[in-house]
Amino acid sequence: MSSSNQLPPSMGNPGMPPMPGQYMPRPAGNMPPMPGQNMPPQPGHNMPPQPGQNMPPMSQPQMPPMAGSGMPPLPGQNMPPHSAQSGMPPMSQPGMMPPLPGQPMPPPGQNAPPQQGMPPQMGRNMPPMQSPMGGMPPMQPPMGGMPPMPAQNPSLMQKRPPMPGQMQGQMPGHMGGYNNMNQPPMPAQQGGFNQMNNQMQNMNISGPYDQKTMNGDNGPHMMPPLSQQQYLNGQQNRPGYPPMTNQGMPNQYSQPAYAAQQQQQQKRLNPDQMPSPIQVIQDDQTSRSGVFYSNQKGLVPPLVSTKFVVQDQGYASPRYIRSTMYNVPITNDLMKQTAVPFGLVISPMARVAEGEVTPPIVNFGELGPVRCVRCKAYMCPYMQFIDSGRRFQCLFCKASTDVPAEYFQHLDHTGQRMDRYDRPELVLGTYEFTATKDYCRNNTFPKPPAIIFVIDVSYNNIKSGLVSLICSQMKDIIKNLPIDEGQQKSNMKVGFITYNSSVHFYNIKGNLAAPQMLVVGDIQEMFMPLLDGFLCTPEESEAVIDALMEQIPQMFADTRECETILLPAIVAGMEALKASDCTGKLLVFHSSLPIAEAPGKLKARDDRKLLGTDKERTILTPQNQTYNQLGQDCVGVGCAVDLFLFNNAYIDIATIGQVSRLTGGEVYKYTYFQADLDGERLIHDIVTNINRPIAFDSIMRVRTSTGVRPTDFYGHCFMSNTTDMELAAIDCDKAIAVEVKHDDKLQEEEGIYIQVALLYTSVSGQRRLRIINQVLKTCSQMADLYRSCDLETIINFFSKQSVYKILDNNPKTVKDAIVQRSAQMLANYRKNCASPSSAGQLILPECMKLLPLYVNCLLKSDALSGGTDITIDDRSFCMMAVMTMDIDNSVNYFYPRLIPLNEISINGSDVIQIPMQIRCTIEKMTDQGVYILENGIYMFLWIGLGANQDFIQQVFGVPSAVQINIEQTTLPVLDNPTSEAVRTIIEQIRSQRHRYMRLTLVRQKEKMENVFKHFLIEDRGLDGSPSYVDFLCHMHKEIRNILS
Ligand SMILES: [Zn+2]
Repeated sequence: MSSSNQLPPSMGNPGMPPMPGQYMPRPAGNMPPMPGQNMPPQPGHNMPPQPGQNMPPMSQPQMPPMAGSGMPPLPGQNMPPHSAQSGMPPMSQPGMMPPLPGQPMPPPGQNAPPQQGMPPQMGRNMPPMQSPMGGMPPMQPPMGGMPPMPAQNPSLMQKRPPMPGQMQGQMPGHMGGYNNMNQPPMPAQQGGFNQMNNQMQNMNISGPYDQKTMNGDNGPHMMPPLSQQQYLNGQQNRPGYPPMTNQGMPNQYSQPAYAAQQQQQQKRLNPDQMPSPIQVIQDDQTSRSGVFYSNQKGLVPPLVSTKFVVQDQGYASPRYIRSTMYNVPITNDLMKQTAVPFGLVISPMARVAEGEVTPPIVNFGELGPVRCVRCKAYMCPYMQFIDSGRRFQCLFCKASTDVPAEYFQHLDHTGQRMDRYDRPELVLGTYEFTATKDYCRNNTFPKPPAIIFVIDVSYNNIKSGLVSLICSQMKDIIKNLPIDEGQQKSNMKVGFITYNSSVHFYNIKGNLAAPQMLVVGDIQEMFMPLLDGFLCTPEESEAVIDALMEQIPQMFADTRECETILLPAIVAGMEALKASDCTGKLLVFHSSLPIAEAPGKLKARDDRKLLGTDKERTILTPQNQTYNQLGQDCVGVGCAVDLFLFNNAYIDIATIGQVSRLTGGEVYKYTYFQADLDGERLIHDIVTNINRPIAFDSIMRVRTSTGVRPTDFYGHCFMSNTTDMELAAIDCDKAIAVEVKHDDKLQEEEGIYIQVALLYTSVSGQRRLRIINQVLKTCSQMADLYRSCDLETIINFFSKQSVYKILDNNPKTVKDAIVQRSAQMLANYRKNCASPSSAGQLILPECMKLLPLYVNCLLKSDALSGGTDITIDDRSFCMMAVMTMDIDNSVNYFYPRLIPLNEISINGSDVIQIPMQIRCTIEKMTDQGVYILENGIYMFLWIGLGANQDFIQQVFGVPSAVQINIEQTTLPVLDNPTSEAVRTIIEQIRSQRHRYMRLTLVRQKEKMENVFKHFLIEDRGLDGSPSYVDFLCHMHKEIRNILS
């Protein structure tokens, strides 16, 4: 903030004499409280509200919309001439007065009201004629340190703009997988996967693959031999087919590349013979559900999908931390050779499952947590007490530390402290310490954190009904403020800011008869004009908040303001927290690209055709650093920022999202928001957002025993140095990936000790440390590593790392490197761990048998490959979502759940269960079926044209599938068990995801089906991206290349 002798801006208070102190020059730097700055109540306003008098309407004398109340003037009301003093902001800035008659309507496009008929969120217009994986990727060095490759085939990287009318193409033929593909192949796609597909068909794949699970002696997964010469047979073009010339013909339902081979197909390849994720999930559920005792180092946890209850016996619950491997090679050489990434994925605030306990809190009083004198690791079960209990040796750094007198305890005959079972920090994997003042800002215990609602009240948000909706629901929303365990009620505070081209603060002090508004028109240098009464508890200010929520929609009802600001509004919220000595979170409800003349102004650069090209990073990285700087400033004061975006046009999430990325925040997106259609979803998201377990003003550090060290950090956080993750907030739905590297040879017997420490302020304002301890085994044999990998964690790690890398590198280079690295992982297994077999045989380690499938899903995902069929903002949104996802959510995002509904069994008294998911391929769907497909962001309900009529009648209330109104986003509430069961299942699915997914109905053979099919991830993509079969073959070829 620059210093100045400028006078502070008007308080939007025309007609009122200056308040004492109000026009005093502002000192540089931090804004000190200005005495008298807050508005004195109007005469009569400080009367306590009369019983029953909830809120004075605008027309009542208490809250006249006139000068003096701080309310913006009404149309036609003359603004008082503003003072000519230099430094005074001009009072006539556009935006001071919400409804200026005669102001132009929003231009079409940018700020236009929602357009009917626009599909929400997804706008896949046409299948782009490009194969992201087109052909064989050239050999490249494994990931890590790879230089950006020059575009290997630029012509293949170009995506074409959508052709007009493409969505209106004629209906395709029947459903039926690849059989209805009649589109000629394109050159780029010819030589690659389809060739291999053909070979697979001749391969006579035979089962049975080893289905032993558990973390023990898993047999390899044997694929049948692939014949060698078939790979050498790659025709590059099929004569007689006109490649790429019929693009105007909108037959988008046909898969582009496969027709010829398909027709020649002698025998259909049965996907059931490929490693099945459903089988893996079911096997793990069978063998590993129940209690998971975390009682030994290097124990591989169950899959995230398995229902288990953790019994903490000295090693952290896998809900808080998972490792890509639980048996780590002792040398860097061995590690590199395997190519398996060594990473941790940490969700320090993860929810506990039913039957599990939240980490207990240990309070050492004035003494504070006991720590190693050298590396500062916290007391944990792995510290070894020596010297009759007078000292302890640290297993992280080997130093020994004197035990503080207050903490001394005798040892028993086994050398263990006598009191260990009374002390969580000596027997548990996860627990908390109460922090002392040394761990607090300014050595002062914190106040409870606050939540500030920052609401854009410009035209778009008024018009869409958003402002009215939020205000009408606010009372219920803030009833959901989180409470600490053992607390009876929340003592978090709330505050309210609105903005358009100026920023408005509200005094909601409980003893006011009506809320008061203070306008800061000088958005160049935002400051906090209100010290007392801005942040209040919902309880003490209930009536005033109610009144405010009735007034806000009225005040701005006639606004024509379209050009809005963003950065100054976030600064306002940040300054408000700072001035209140509070940390907390801003929930910002914003509608459009901030193009008003103000700090943080952005320009449109909606050049969608760059997506998927080697230039895509120019639009996926911020257009300038202002929002990054803002993010850092926010972290500095413990202010997290969640963005709720209601855009009807480009809003540049890549730039404005930085403020969320750096503060541990989250971005929500409601394109073409309409309150009546999307209101329920939004309110649900807001409530979930503020209600979930969360840590404020946090710093997280990962300590490891010597020999390895954390080097890279991927997630929504800010690194102020090389080791500390600063998180203005981190909630239960966020995970951060940490890459760990060797810097020395490890001892085989000892293992790797890991301690995550999260210093944070709890929702009740307690300063605490959450300690998460884990120990991995070390090995000198590769086979041990391959028995102990956690594939789901590897994929989460890869996804975060790739999103990070794609911002700096050619996307093809990044994706090719993932393929190469994965092939390396499998080739190395084959070479060193598997028993000799014919060269044509694909052999996969049991715990990585789904690696080809999941890597293909990752590469095909919108986060990495979203091209011109989605918007730039959609792409940025997906990338940010992936960057924050925990493992459970990322598995589900990359491999969507496909759930058959028509087979639900309803027996009156039974508890309704979500049916088991099926493989995510059209091969498993039938015309008679009704299915839900969800990936945590989208949820579709697909209705087959041959679906049972009774089922349709009971669920949709119409006699046949063709009569269903597929525009509806909710199912009718009908009084029959089937209807109830289906609605219950949808609600159960939603409750498992932290974003409330809108239900999109898709009828078989109608245009939305293309969008739906995009998520059938095992199938070949409409953009030519490889199917599971294709990719498995491709991977096999890569492996053979490495081995030969
Ligand atoms: Zn130490």
